[in-house]
Amino acid sequence: MPIVNRIADLHAEITAWRRDIHAHPELQYDVHRTAASVADKLKAFGCDEVVTGIGRTGVVGVIRGRKQGGKVVGLRADMDALPIEEETNLAYRSTVPGKMHACGHDGHTAMLLGAAKYLTDTRNFAGTAVVIFQPAEEGGAGARAMIRDGLLDRFGIQEVFGMHNYPGLPVGEFAIRTGPMMASTDSIVIDLEGVGGHAAWPHFGVDTVLVGAQIVNQLQSIVARNVDPLQAAVISICVFQAGQAENVIPQHAQLRGTARSLTPEVREFLEKRVRVIVEGTAHAYGAKAKLTYKTGYPVLVNEERRTAFAAAVAGEIAGTDKVNADWMPLMGAEDFAYMLQERPGAFIYLGNGRTAGLHHPAYDFNDEAIPIGTSFWVRLAEMALAG
Ligand SMILES: [Zn+2]
Ligand SMILES: [Zn+2]
Repeated sequence: MPIVNRIADLHAEITAWRRDIHAHPELQYDVHRTAASVADKLKAFGCDEVVTGIGRTGVVGVIRGRKQGGKVVGLRADMDALPIEEETNLAYRSTVPGKMHACGHDGHTAMLLGAAKYLTDTRNFAGTAVVIFQPAEEGGAGARAMIRDGLLDRFGIQEVFGMHNYPGLPVGEFAIRTGPMMASTDSIVIDLEGVGGHAAWPHFGVDTVLVGAQIVNQLQSIVARNVDPLQAAVISICVFQAGQAENVIPQHAQLRGTARSLTPEVREFLEKRVRVIVEGTAHAYGAKAKLTYKTGYPVLVNEERRTAFAAAVAGEIAGTDKVNADWMPLMGAEDFAYMLQERPGAFIYLGNGRTAGLHHPAYDFNDEAIPIGTSFWVRLAEMALAG
Protein backbone atom coordinates (compact mmCIF):
# COMPACT_ATOMS: atom_id res chain seq x y z
CA MET A 1 0.00 0.00 0.00
CA PRO A 2 1.74 3.21 -1.09
CA ILE A 3 1.36 5.35 1.99
CA VAL A 4 3.19 8.60 1.45
CA ASN A 5 6.59 7.99 3.11
CA ARG A 6 6.73 11.15 5.09
CA ILE A 7 3.22 10.46 6.38
CA ALA A 8 4.36 7.08 7.68
CA ASP A 9 7.00 8.99 9.66
CA LEU A 10 4.29 11.22 11.11
CA HIS A 11 2.13 8.29 12.23
CA ALA A 12 3.20 8.37 15.90
CA GLU A 13 2.87 12.13 16.15
CA ILE A 14 -0.60 12.20 14.56
CA THR A 15 -1.65 9.32 16.83
CA ALA A 16 -0.56 11.32 19.87
CA TRP A 17 -2.65 14.31 18.70
CA ARG A 18 -5.62 12.01 18.12
CA ARG A 19 -5.40 10.51 21.58
CA ASP A 20 -5.05 13.90 23.22
CA ILE A 21 -8.21 15.08 21.47
CA HIS A 22 -9.90 11.81 22.42
CA ALA A 23 -9.09 12.37 26.11
CA HIS A 24 -10.59 15.88 25.99
CA PRO A 25 -13.92 15.64 24.17
CA GLU A 26 -16.01 18.78 23.66
CA LEU A 27 -19.57 19.13 22.38
CA GLN A 28 -21.22 21.10 19.62
CA TYR A 29 -19.85 24.65 19.28
CA ASP A 30 -18.12 24.40 22.64
CA VAL A 31 -14.90 23.01 21.14
CA HIS A 32 -12.63 25.72 22.50
CA ARG A 33 -9.73 23.54 23.61
CA THR A 34 -9.72 21.52 20.41
CA ALA A 35 -10.02 24.58 18.17
CA ALA A 36 -7.23 26.39 20.04
CA SER A 37 -4.97 23.37 19.73
CA VAL A 38 -5.76 23.05 16.01
CA ALA A 39 -5.06 26.75 15.43
CA ASP A 40 -1.78 26.59 17.36
CA LYS A 41 -0.59 23.64 15.32
CA LEU A 42 -1.57 25.20 12.00
CA LYS A 43 0.40 28.32 12.93
CA ALA A 44 3.38 26.24 14.03
CA PHE A 45 3.32 24.34 10.72
CA GLY A 46 3.54 27.67 8.90
CA CYS A 47 0.13 27.96 7.24
CA ASP A 48 -0.08 31.18 5.20
CA GLU A 49 -3.20 32.15 7.10
CA VAL A 50 -4.90 30.73 10.16
CA VAL A 51 -8.35 32.11 10.91
CA THR A 52 -10.37 31.21 13.99
CA GLY A 53 -13.95 31.97 14.99
CA ILE A 54 -15.58 31.09 11.66
CA GLY A 55 -18.96 29.54 12.49
CA ARG A 56 -18.28 30.47 16.12
CA THR A 57 -15.47 28.00 16.85
CA GLY A 58 -14.43 26.79 13.39
CA VAL A 59 -10.79 27.07 12.32
CA VAL A 60 -9.40 27.51 8.81
CA GLY A 61 -5.84 27.13 7.60
CA VAL A 62 -4.69 28.35 4.20
CA ILE A 63 -1.74 26.64 2.50
CA ARG A 64 -0.45 27.99 -0.80
CA GLY A 65 1.47 25.79 -3.16
CA ARG A 66 4.82 26.78 -4.63
CA LYS A 67 3.79 26.22 -8.24
CA GLN A 68 2.00 28.78 -10.42
CA GLY A 69 -1.73 28.72 -11.10
CA GLY A 70 -4.16 26.22 -9.74
CA LYS A 71 -7.46 26.43 -7.94
CA VAL A 72 -8.64 26.47 -4.33
CA VAL A 73 -9.70 23.21 -2.75
CA GLY A 74 -11.29 22.84 0.69
CA LEU A 75 -10.55 19.79 2.86
CA ARG A 76 -12.87 19.45 5.82
CA ALA A 77 -12.73 17.70 9.19
CA ASP A 78 -15.09 17.89 12.17
CA MET A 79 -13.99 18.44 15.78
CA ASP A 80 -16.96 17.75 18.07
CA ALA A 81 -17.70 14.79 20.34
CA LEU A 82 -20.94 13.29 21.68
CA PRO A 83 -22.86 13.30 24.97
CA ILE A 84 -22.05 9.65 25.69
CA GLU A 85 -20.35 8.12 28.74
CA GLU A 86 -17.30 6.29 27.40
CA GLU A 87 -17.12 2.59 28.27
CA THR A 88 -13.55 1.66 27.43
CA ASN A 89 -10.41 1.12 29.48
CA LEU A 90 -8.15 2.94 27.06
CA ALA A 91 -5.20 4.77 28.55
CA TYR A 92 -6.41 7.88 26.71
CA ARG A 93 -10.10 7.43 27.52
CA SER A 94 -12.31 10.48 27.96
CA THR A 95 -11.45 12.57 30.99
CA VAL A 96 -14.80 14.35 30.84
CA PRO A 97 -17.79 12.56 32.37
CA GLY A 98 -20.67 12.15 29.93
CA LYS A 99 -18.70 13.16 26.85
CA MET A 100 -16.74 11.08 24.39
CA HIS A 101 -15.37 10.97 20.86
CA ALA A 102 -17.69 8.19 19.71
CA CYS A 103 -17.85 9.25 16.06
CA GLY A 104 -14.13 9.45 15.35
CA HIS A 105 -13.98 13.20 14.83
CA ASP A 106 -10.80 13.05 16.95
CA GLY A 107 -9.29 10.94 14.16
CA HIS A 108 -10.67 13.20 11.42
CA THR A 109 -9.16 16.29 13.05
CA ALA A 110 -5.79 14.61 13.69
CA MET A 111 -5.50 13.28 10.11
CA LEU A 112 -6.27 16.65 8.55
CA LEU A 113 -3.72 18.25 10.89
CA GLY A 114 -1.20 15.66 9.71
CA ALA A 115 -2.00 16.53 6.11
CA ALA A 116 -1.62 20.24 6.89
CA LYS A 117 1.80 19.59 8.40
CA TYR A 118 2.90 17.69 5.31
CA LEU A 119 1.42 20.18 2.85
CA THR A 120 2.96 23.24 4.54
CA ASP A 121 6.29 21.44 4.53
CA THR A 122 6.28 20.33 0.91
CA ARG A 123 3.92 22.72 -0.92
CA ASN A 124 4.34 20.58 -3.97
CA PHE A 125 1.23 21.88 -5.72
CA ALA A 126 -0.24 24.83 -7.57
CA GLY A 127 -3.08 26.84 -6.08
CA THR A 128 -4.33 26.68 -2.53
CA ALA A 129 -5.36 23.99 -0.07
CA VAL A 130 -7.74 25.24 2.59
CA VAL A 131 -8.04 22.98 5.64
CA ILE A 132 -11.39 23.42 7.38
CA PHE A 133 -12.02 22.31 10.97
CA GLN A 134 -15.68 22.64 11.86
CA PRO A 135 -17.57 22.49 15.13
CA ALA A 136 -21.02 21.01 15.79
CA GLU A 137 -21.36 18.30 13.17
CA GLU A 138 -23.46 16.25 15.61
CA GLY A 139 -26.80 17.96 15.14
CA GLY A 140 -25.61 21.56 15.37
CA ALA A 141 -25.10 22.29 11.65
CA GLY A 142 -21.60 23.64 12.21
CA ALA A 143 -20.89 23.39 8.47
CA ARG A 144 -23.82 25.69 7.75
CA ALA A 145 -22.63 28.11 10.44
CA MET A 146 -19.21 28.28 8.78
CA ILE A 147 -20.78 28.80 5.34
CA ARG A 148 -22.98 31.59 6.73
CA ASP A 149 -19.85 33.16 8.14
CA GLY A 150 -18.50 33.37 4.60
CA LEU A 151 -16.18 30.34 4.62
CA LEU A 152 -16.49 29.45 0.94
CA ASP A 153 -16.45 32.96 -0.56
CA ARG A 154 -13.89 34.45 1.78
CA PHE A 155 -11.25 31.87 0.88
CA GLY A 156 -12.45 31.43 -2.70
CA ILE A 157 -13.04 27.71 -2.19
CA GLN A 158 -14.04 26.06 -5.48
CA GLU A 159 -14.33 22.41 -4.51
CA VAL A 160 -14.83 20.65 -1.17
CA PHE A 161 -13.99 17.20 0.11
CA GLY A 162 -14.87 15.42 3.35
CA MET A 163 -14.04 12.05 4.89
CA HIS A 164 -15.59 9.90 7.60
CA ASN A 165 -14.29 6.74 9.20
CA TYR A 166 -16.46 3.67 8.74
CA PRO A 167 -16.54 0.81 11.27
CA GLY A 168 -17.02 -2.54 9.55
CA LEU A 169 -15.14 -1.46 6.45
CA PRO A 170 -11.62 -2.95 6.72
CA VAL A 171 -8.71 -0.64 7.44
CA GLY A 172 -7.04 0.15 4.13
CA GLU A 173 -10.31 0.33 2.22
CA PHE A 174 -12.45 3.21 1.02
CA ALA A 175 -16.08 3.50 -0.04
CA ILE A 176 -17.89 6.20 -1.96
CA ARG A 177 -20.66 6.69 -4.49
CA THR A 178 -21.85 9.31 -6.92
CA GLY A 179 -25.11 11.11 -6.18
CA PRO A 180 -27.11 10.86 -2.96
CA MET A 181 -25.02 9.01 -0.35
CA MET A 182 -26.54 10.10 2.97
CA ALA A 183 -30.05 11.10 3.93
CA SER A 184 -31.80 14.33 4.72
CA THR A 185 -33.01 14.30 8.30
CA ASP A 186 -36.05 16.19 9.50
CA SER A 187 -37.47 16.17 12.98
CA ILE A 188 -41.08 15.45 13.88
CA VAL A 189 -42.67 16.63 17.12
CA ILE A 190 -46.36 15.95 17.68
CA ASP A 191 -48.15 17.45 20.67
CA LEU A 192 -51.54 15.90 21.31
CA GLU A 193 -54.28 17.24 23.50
CA GLY A 194 -57.27 15.12 24.38
CA VAL A 195 -59.57 15.11 27.34
CA GLY A 196 -58.05 13.59 30.45
CA GLY A 197 -59.96 11.80 33.14
CA HIS A 198 -60.53 8.64 35.11
CA ALA A 199 -59.38 5.46 33.41
CA ALA A 200 -62.67 3.80 34.36
CA TRP A 201 -64.76 6.34 32.40
CA PRO A 202 -63.02 6.52 29.01
CA HIS A 203 -66.30 7.55 27.36
CA PHE A 204 -66.04 10.96 29.07
CA GLY A 205 -62.53 11.56 27.74
CA VAL A 206 -60.39 11.64 24.64
CA ASP A 207 -57.50 9.25 25.17
CA THR A 208 -54.23 10.72 23.89
CA VAL A 209 -52.47 7.35 24.32
CA LEU A 210 -54.85 5.70 21.89
CA VAL A 211 -54.68 8.63 19.45
CA GLY A 212 -50.88 8.64 19.66
CA ALA A 213 -50.74 4.89 19.07
CA GLN A 214 -52.96 5.25 15.99
CA ILE A 215 -50.72 8.02 14.68
CA VAL A 216 -47.59 5.90 15.16
CA ASN A 217 -49.21 3.09 13.19
CA GLN A 218 -50.59 5.32 10.45
CA LEU A 219 -47.24 7.07 9.98
CA GLN A 220 -45.70 3.70 9.14
CA SER A 221 -48.10 3.43 6.20
CA ILE A 222 -46.34 6.35 4.50
CA VAL A 223 -43.13 4.51 3.70
CA ALA A 224 -44.92 1.18 3.21
CA ARG A 225 -47.82 2.38 1.04
CA ASN A 226 -47.20 5.91 -0.27
CA VAL A 227 -43.51 6.17 -1.19
CA ASP A 228 -42.34 4.49 -4.39
CA PRO A 229 -40.81 1.17 -3.25
CA LEU A 230 -37.72 1.95 -5.31
CA GLN A 231 -37.15 5.19 -3.39
CA ALA A 232 -35.60 5.27 0.05
CA ALA A 233 -37.40 6.73 3.05
CA VAL A 234 -37.66 6.07 6.76
CA ILE A 235 -39.88 7.44 9.48
CA SER A 236 -39.07 6.47 13.06
CA ILE A 237 -41.06 7.63 16.05
CA CYS A 238 -38.63 7.21 18.91
CA VAL A 239 -40.28 9.09 21.78
CA PHE A 240 -43.85 8.60 23.08
CA GLN A 241 -44.47 10.42 26.33
CA ALA A 242 -47.85 10.41 28.06
CA GLY A 243 -49.30 9.93 31.48
CA GLN A 244 -48.04 9.38 35.01
CA ALA A 245 -50.56 7.03 36.58
CA GLU A 246 -52.14 3.78 35.49
CA ASN A 247 -55.67 4.93 36.32
CA VAL A 248 -55.58 8.31 34.58
CA ILE A 249 -56.25 8.97 30.92
CA PRO A 250 -53.64 11.62 30.08
CA GLN A 251 -54.74 14.96 28.74
CA HIS A 252 -51.46 15.42 26.83
CA ALA A 253 -49.07 13.23 24.88
CA GLN A 254 -45.98 13.96 22.85
CA LEU A 255 -44.45 11.93 20.04
CA ARG A 256 -41.04 12.68 18.58
CA GLY A 257 -39.16 11.14 15.72
CA THR A 258 -37.25 11.56 12.49
CA ALA A 259 -38.07 11.45 8.77
CA ARG A 260 -35.31 10.71 6.28
CA SER A 261 -34.97 10.40 2.53
CA LEU A 262 -32.50 10.59 -0.32
CA THR A 263 -34.22 13.07 -2.64
CA PRO A 264 -35.79 16.51 -2.13
CA GLU A 265 -39.02 15.23 -3.72
CA VAL A 266 -39.46 12.36 -1.27
CA ARG A 267 -38.44 14.66 1.54
CA GLU A 268 -41.21 17.12 0.72
CA PHE A 269 -43.69 14.31 0.21
CA LEU A 270 -42.97 12.82 3.66
CA GLU A 271 -43.73 16.11 5.35
CA LYS A 272 -47.03 16.45 3.48
CA ARG A 273 -48.16 12.94 4.39
CA VAL A 274 -47.07 13.25 8.03
CA ARG A 275 -49.16 16.42 8.32
CA VAL A 276 -52.25 14.84 6.75
CA ILE A 277 -52.02 11.76 8.96
CA VAL A 278 -51.36 13.61 12.20
CA GLU A 279 -54.16 16.12 11.67
CA GLY A 280 -56.61 13.63 10.17
CA THR A 281 -56.09 10.98 12.83
CA ALA A 282 -56.34 13.44 15.70
CA HIS A 283 -59.48 14.88 14.17
CA ALA A 284 -61.05 11.45 13.75
CA TYR A 285 -60.66 10.81 17.49
CA GLY A 286 -61.63 14.27 18.66
CA ALA A 287 -58.14 15.25 19.82
CA LYS A 288 -56.11 18.32 18.95
CA ALA A 289 -52.70 17.89 17.35
CA LYS A 290 -49.87 20.33 16.83
CA LEU A 291 -47.18 19.15 14.44
CA THR A 292 -43.76 20.80 14.53
CA TYR A 293 -41.80 19.65 11.51
CA LYS A 294 -38.24 20.94 11.44
CA THR A 295 -35.95 20.49 8.49
CA GLY A 296 -32.48 19.27 9.42
CA TYR A 297 -29.46 18.31 7.34
CA PRO A 298 -30.04 18.05 3.58
CA VAL A 299 -29.34 14.99 1.44
CA LEU A 300 -25.59 14.55 0.98
CA VAL A 301 -25.01 14.48 -2.77
CA ASN A 302 -21.60 13.61 -4.22
CA GLU A 303 -20.83 15.36 -7.49
CA GLU A 304 -19.95 12.93 -10.27
CA ARG A 305 -16.56 14.20 -11.47
CA ARG A 306 -15.16 14.88 -7.98
CA THR A 307 -16.41 11.51 -6.79
CA ALA A 308 -14.53 9.78 -9.58
CA PHE A 309 -11.52 11.90 -8.71
CA ALA A 310 -11.67 11.08 -4.97
CA ALA A 311 -12.07 7.39 -5.81
CA ALA A 312 -8.98 7.61 -8.05
CA VAL A 313 -6.97 9.24 -5.26
CA ALA A 314 -8.13 6.55 -2.82
CA GLY A 315 -7.23 3.91 -5.41
CA GLU A 316 -3.72 5.25 -5.71
CA ILE A 317 -3.24 4.87 -1.95
CA ALA A 318 -5.18 1.71 -1.20
CA GLY A 319 -5.19 -0.05 -4.57
CA THR A 320 -8.20 0.17 -6.86
CA ASP A 321 -9.55 -3.16 -5.63
CA LYS A 322 -9.81 -1.64 -2.14
CA VAL A 323 -12.08 1.20 -3.24
CA ASN A 324 -15.77 0.49 -3.54
CA ALA A 325 -17.03 3.30 -5.77
CA ASP A 326 -20.60 2.05 -5.76
CA TRP A 327 -21.29 1.96 -2.03
CA MET A 328 -24.89 1.74 -0.82
CA PRO A 329 -26.37 5.03 0.38
CA LEU A 330 -27.08 5.27 4.10
CA MET A 331 -30.01 6.83 5.93
CA GLY A 332 -27.64 8.45 8.41
CA ALA A 333 -26.98 12.17 7.94
CA GLU A 334 -23.93 14.45 7.72
CA ASP A 335 -23.78 18.21 7.72
CA PHE A 336 -21.02 18.21 5.10
CA ALA A 337 -24.11 18.02 2.88
CA TYR A 338 -24.44 21.80 3.31
CA MET A 339 -20.99 22.34 1.80
CA LEU A 340 -21.83 20.03 -1.09
CA GLN A 341 -24.95 22.11 -1.75
CA GLU A 342 -22.69 25.11 -2.30
CA ARG A 343 -19.70 23.63 -4.09
CA PRO A 344 -18.97 20.51 -6.15
CA GLY A 345 -17.13 17.88 -4.18
CA ALA A 346 -17.35 14.49 -2.57
CA PHE A 347 -17.51 12.72 0.77
CA ILE A 348 -15.68 9.43 1.22
CA TYR A 349 -15.65 6.66 3.84
CA LEU A 350 -12.39 5.40 5.30
CA GLY A 351 -12.28 1.86 6.72
CA ASN A 352 -12.08 1.76 10.51
CA GLY A 353 -11.92 -2.04 10.76
CA ARG A 354 -13.80 -4.27 13.17
CA THR A 355 -14.46 -1.72 15.89
CA ALA A 356 -17.61 -0.87 17.82
CA GLY A 357 -20.05 1.13 15.74
CA LEU A 358 -20.29 4.91 15.52
CA HIS A 359 -21.92 6.47 18.61
CA HIS A 360 -21.35 3.28 20.63
CA PRO A 361 -19.85 3.78 24.13
CA ALA A 362 -17.02 1.36 23.29
CA TYR A 363 -16.19 2.93 19.92
CA ASP A 364 -12.63 4.07 19.26
CA PHE A 365 -11.14 5.57 16.12
CA ASN A 366 -8.64 3.11 14.65
CA ASP A 367 -5.15 4.64 14.65
CA GLU A 368 -4.05 2.13 12.02
CA ALA A 369 -6.18 4.12 9.56
CA ILE A 370 -4.23 7.32 10.20
CA PRO A 371 -1.55 6.92 7.50
CA ILE A 372 -4.18 5.93 4.96
CA GLY A 373 -6.54 8.80 5.68
CA THR A 374 -3.72 11.32 5.93
CA SER A 375 -2.14 10.09 2.69
CA PHE A 376 -5.55 10.41 1.05
CA TRP A 377 -5.74 14.08 2.04
CA VAL A 378 -2.24 14.99 0.88
CA ARG A 379 -2.52 13.16 -2.42
CA LEU A 380 -5.98 14.61 -2.98
CA ALA A 381 -4.56 18.11 -2.55
CA GLU A 382 -1.52 17.40 -4.72
CA MET A 383 -3.55 15.78 -7.49
CA ALA A 384 -6.41 18.30 -7.44
CA LEU A 385 -3.84 21.10 -7.51
CA ALA A 386 -1.41 19.51 -9.94
CA GLY A 387 -1.32 22.80 -11.90
ZN1 LIG B 1 -21.72 11.00 14.55
ZN1 LIG C 1 -19.35 11.72 12.56
